[in-house]
Amino acid sequence: MTDIDHIVRKIAADMAQEQDRGRVADYIPGLACVDPNQFGIAVITADGTIHVAGDGDTLFSIQSISKVFALTIALGKVGDALWHRVGREPSGSAFNSIVQLEQEHGIPRNPFINAGAIVVSDVVLSGHRPREAIGEILRFLRQLAHDDTIFIDDDVARGEQDTGFRNAALVNYMRAFGNIHNPVEEVLGVYFHQCAIAMNCRQLAAAGRFLMMHGRDPVTGHSIVPPTRAKRINALMMMCGHYDGSGEFAFRVGMPGKSGVGGGILTVVPGVASIAVWSPGLNERGNSKIGSLALERLAAATGWSVFNSRG
Ligand code: GLU
Repeated sequence: MTDIDHIVRKIAADMAQEQDRGRVADYIPGLACVDPNQFGIAVITADGTIHVAGDGDTLFSIQSISKVFALTIALGKVGDALWHRVGREPSGSAFNSIVQLEQEHGIPRNPFINAGAIVVSDVVLSGHRPREAIGEILRFLRQLAHDDTIFIDDDVARGEQDTGFRNAALVNYMRAFGNIHNPVEEVLGVYFHQCAIAMNCRQLAAAGRFLMMHGRDPVTGHSIVPPTRAKRINALMMMCGHYDGSGEFAFRVGMPGKSGVGGGILTVVPGVASIAVWSPGLNERGNSKIGSLALERLAAATGWSVFNSRG
């Protein structure tokens, strides 16, 4: 057993013992029914070794982690022109805040809060039918993870659609400012379906490898994005990946990461590892409570951090 294997197993065993596991998101039945006692972790290192422990092969709803992949597609389509429509600053507000949008004239703070991600969905949708845009996001994840079994959970997508009044408010509000170019129901359809993609930690860590490998798929050697773009997506994850808990996550963990209300977190240590953790209970900021703790322990045990020269 390697050191990393040992560390990953120990973290999974320790996390199983934790009593205070946070609260499972309950705004839709597809998330509310998930057992909070689960914890999974997958670590893929730069040499391709995979370490999986706990419930690392159990599927969960990736939710906002999809925003990283949709952003990558949108940047591929329109490049830096995206930044005329979305900012790059941490928001300091909740993921679905509408107040900031008014002050900033319909330009969301960053692509990882809901408003920003909805603009990104609009960019991915432009020139396509909604079904094609959703298919493009799903295909991209399957390609990155080298796994054609990844799918969209229709129950979760329906739940998002039935309860997404705030997201509907955000998209309509931005449309009023001219920052949404397609019909609002179609944009929401793309956004809700990308949030409803189901993956496990193993697949998610695999999908994040291009961000660890400076934009390359380590399996094929093909370039997914130029190195500068990988670096910038990582920078955005560091500053904005955990909503109004991003500073705390950087302080405790020190790795670029993106969380979702399904309880997943994807983090990367450039040149070193791509990591996915999952535990459905959330902290008060909407980030996985046990997942964040596990990453803090992993960072402490390995020395992995972008703020650490050993990293
Ligand atoms: N589908 C959720 C929403 O838009 C995603 C939130 C999240 O994962 O942060 O409300």
